[in-house]
Amino acid sequence: MTTKSLSEEDLQRRFRDVEENLKVVEERIAAAAEHAGRKREDITLLAATKTVPVEIINHGIEAGIRCIGENRVQELMDKYEGYRKDLADVQFIGHLQTNKVKYLIGKVSLIQSIDSRKLAAEVSRLSQRAGITTNILLEVNIGREENKSGVLPENLEQLLGEVSQMPNIQVRGLMAIPPAGAEKEETFAYFTQMYQYFIDIGSKKLDNVSMQRLSMGMSADYELAIAAGANMVRVGSALFGPRDYSKK
Ligand SMILES: *Cc1c(COP(=O)(O)O)cnc(C)c1O
Repeated sequence: MTTKSLSEEDLQRRFRDVEENLKVVEERIAAAAEHAGRKREDITLLAATKTVPVEIINHGIEAGIRCIGENRVQELMDKYEGYRKDLADVQFIGHLQTNKVKYLIGKVSLIQSIDSRKLAAEVSRLSQRAGITTNILLEVNIGREENKSGVLPENLEQLLGEVSQMPNIQVRGLMAIPPAGAEKEETFAYFTQMYQYFIDIGSKKLDNVSMQRLSMGMSADYELAIAAGANMVRVGSALFGPRDYSKK
């Protein structure tokens, strides 16, 4: 996870790419927001930084990225000291195991991937012990895919009820990753369904639940997500280029 394998020339090229990509993504978010009759500032761009070396992430932060998200606990810990945390918010967006929760408490401003009572209970327990409150999103398996993270839509309400009773944990919204490779219309329908849950839950006034964030949309479909009501998009490869897993 260091840049030792990158030559100075490669590094400079990747710096320029990130700057240019960020401009394009920013323009597209602004256009999608305008098209949907919404304000650009109501939509948060989260840079999905898995496999991206810290120097390149920080260059993106210096160019204007204000929110980053990692997928793997170990990778987050390896990179954590290096991030420009004075400028950017650090979040966790990947699949999470209960025994790894301890590494995130107090480190990230939002855990986007809580999908079970057990996981939420561990966040609650460790947050209580640390004397802090942890903000989370509930991840919904909106496509009802097998072997995919996220609570099934029909179990969302029950999970919300359980989490709302737990101390030191606040539900701030919902996250989803619709099935990969679906047609645009189908993806849009999933996003729209998520927006409906977001609005319905928001109207319920549950304890410790405030529907502030609807996190959906990635490089291939963030404009579609904004059209359907997302207020946070998680963009990786459109900012940093194709991911290189070989260095891991
Ligand atoms: C990798 C990742 C993204 C970004 O994916 P891209 O297609 O590269 O934009 C968004 N969300 C999650 C949870 C991810 O793991």
